[in-house]
Amino acid sequence: MRPLTDNEIRAAFVNCTKGAAKRLSVPHDLADRPWDDLDYFGWRDPRAPDRAYLVTERNGRPTALALRSSGAASWQARRSMCSMCLTTHSGGVCLMVAPKAGKAGQQGNSVGAYICGDLACSLYVRGMREAGAGARLHETITLEEKIRRTVANLAAFVDKVLA
Ligand SMILES: [Zn+2]
Repeated sequence: MRPLTDNEIRAAFVNCTKGAAKRLSVPHDLADRPWDDLDYFGWRDPRAPDRAYLVTERNGRPTALALRSSGAASWQARRSMCSMCLTTHSGGVCLMVAPKAGKAGQQGNSVGAYICGDLACSLYVRGMREAGAGARLHETITLEEKIRRTVANLAAFVDKVLA
């Protein structure tokens, strides 16, 4: 994806208030991130470990989501699969819950998905980060197809938040 600035990211949030988007912590090292290899950029709030954020492109425009991630629970010790990039981790997949955009979100509606806890799906798909033995399904499809699938899964999640 195209590199984004702090301001662009803050302006891209669709499921939190403008005030919250202004206050939340965005990493300072944006210029050093491997944007070319990212289908989305995700990060955790260092001051609030149960908060995570991600920004991706939707119809060519940056679109960012505020997420709540579950704390460590017993089920997390099991191997589980990320629903975006289909990487299997032992204890490395978190249930991420996004309040829905607009009125539905204000009424408490949310959408959840199991996502790599470090929000590094793009790097796992490209083999740039390892999740341990047996983490990837043996698949005959190409890297481009895996990337396209991850992008489609994420787009479907974003669509649900915006629906
Ligand atoms: Zn993933």
